[in-house]
Amino acid sequence: MPTTPLLDLVDALLAGPSPAPIVTAGDPVLRRRGEPYEGQLGDERLDGLLGLMRTTMREAPGVGLAAPQIGIPLRIAVLEDRAEILRNVPAETLHARRRVPQPFRVLVNPRYEAVGPGVAAFYEGCLSVPGWQAVTARHERILLRGQDETGRELDEEVEGWPARIVQHETDHLDGMLYLDRAEIRSLSTSAHVLGRWADPTPENASRALGFPLPQA
Ligand code: ZN
Repeated sequence: MPTTPLLDLVDALLAGPSPAPIVTAGDPVLRRRGEPYEGQLGDERLDGLLGLMRTTMREAPGVGLAAPQIGIPLRIAVLEDRAEILRNVPAETLHARRRVPQPFRVLVNPRYEAVGPGVAAFYEGCLSVPGWQAVTARHERILLRGQDETGRELDEEVEGWPARIVQHETDHLDGMLYLDRAEIRSLSTSAHVLGRWADPTPENASRALGFPLPQA
């Protein structure tokens, strides 16, 4: 099957609806490694794509979106965890998950490595796997490298929930879904997560559903 050239793909997307349709699990674009971004789009098209990604993430709503999730095989992701949404989350939950507001930001060619042995396991979901969540262990602290949308080099430590978002989005660019790392016995519909497993930590879910949690 011939593949559509990248610029045509982006132009078609920018000419289409906003928010853009989100690609769901089963589409091969979510299983391929994205191409490194090296200026292929030019500034104007890149701005257009980032604006569309931001709108699509916010409308979903989600806290991150990787370009392959709207069908673009490039190593670009956006993330944002807005304070006004966190106001509706119980303080105990925010504290346990180390979830703090994240301003909108763009990751270009991101990569990460663990800093220290700490691991945190919580329910996690993905806009490309709608309706489901599973407990996924993530590094608590990472070193994030790559660039931002202006080409500025990133070299910073990220921890807590923001580190989870960075790991989730960067994994998308390597063709991975969170389910590849999740405790599959924890898999629950979003309705069950809301109704039964909304505790700050997944210990009750671990006992009731029979999956291990990392040792503290
Ligand atoms: Zn995702």
